[in-house]
Amino acid sequence: MAYLRPATIASALAARAELPRALVCGGGTAVQPAMNAGLLRPADVLDLGGLRDGAAIDAYGDRVRLGPVVRVAAAARAHALGAGVLGGLLRGFATPAVRERATLTGNLFQAPADLAVVLTALDGSLITASAHSRGERRLPVTMASALRPDELAVGLDLAVPAAFAYERLAVREVAAPTLAAVAAALLPGGPRAAVTGYRAGTAVPCPGAVPHLADPAGADGFAAAVVAAAAPPTPYARRSVAALARRCHRRIHRGDADA
Ligand SMILES: Cc1cc2nc3c(=O)[nH]c(=O)nc-3n(C[C@H](O)[C@H](O)[C@H](O)COP(=O)(O)OP(=O)(O)OC[C@H]3O[C@@H](n4cnc5c(N)ncnc54)[C@H](O)[C@@H]3O)c2cc1C
Repeated sequence: MAYLRPATIASALAARAELPRALVCGGGTAVQPAMNAGLLRPADVLDLGGLRDGAAIDAYGDRVRLGPVVRVAAAARAHALGAGVLGGLLRGFATPAVRERATLTGNLFQAPADLAVVLTALDGSLITASAHSRGERRLPVTMASALRPDELAVGLDLAVPAAFAYERLAVREVAAPTLAAVAAALLPGGPRAAVTGYRAGTAVPCPGAVPHLADPAGADGFAAAVVAAAAPPTPYARRSVAALARRCHRRIHRGDADA
């Protein structure tokens, strides 16, 4: 088995071209337990954990580009994303130890991917590249499966929010699967919202909710539009999604969810 641990994104792309079937490892929080349990038996491993140029968080204009091995905890602390803007993630995503290792990019290749709803609300895209082609491609954050065999995800691009809210429903606060989640953001280009859960775990944008998110008195309209986008299958699920949406709306306009 070949184990490659390139030091730069360029050398990682070259390695990917050479070994397109190698298992890519970012933070390893998903693939390493699977390998330890014998569920994954890759012929070769391409470990991105040593990329010197892979953990940058670069602000440009009103957007930010994150390298492919930016960790969840680092992103939640990053001032370039607006101090504390993603801090809400720290409450619900995995455990503190996992958050320090897990990458945002790696999450998008998992199912379910809790960060897909967050990054959809932040107008995010997944940036891919290959040693064979010039330039980069951009994919919706829910389309990581469209990566070509010779490509790697080399970054994420997202808007910096003026206000951001994320609410999720799970049986426990930490390390439990998300049943439903709503994310809402006030972005330079306008408000955005996304919802996930009850529909194959896929994050979907909620364009119908946008006018209500901009309106401080629009909590009920916002909740109704988010529920319509999520299409929850049962009355309980509909009430849950509506409650998450109202909490997000309150956070956006009052900075809290419990008032
Ligand atoms: C205790 C525990 C709790 C967890 N809790 C949660 C949770 O609450 N919510 C949640 O969503 N997930 C959770 N996870 C799953 C996992 O930690 C996350 O999905 C994490 O973000 C994966 O990122 P990673 O960098 O560790 O990915 P890795 O394990 O390195 O890789 C995951 C997948 O992404 C691919 N990949 C990674 N980087 C690239 C790249 N640059 N280009 C192409 N492919 C790439 C890999 O090939 C693999 O298929 C949990 C895991 C554990 C062990």
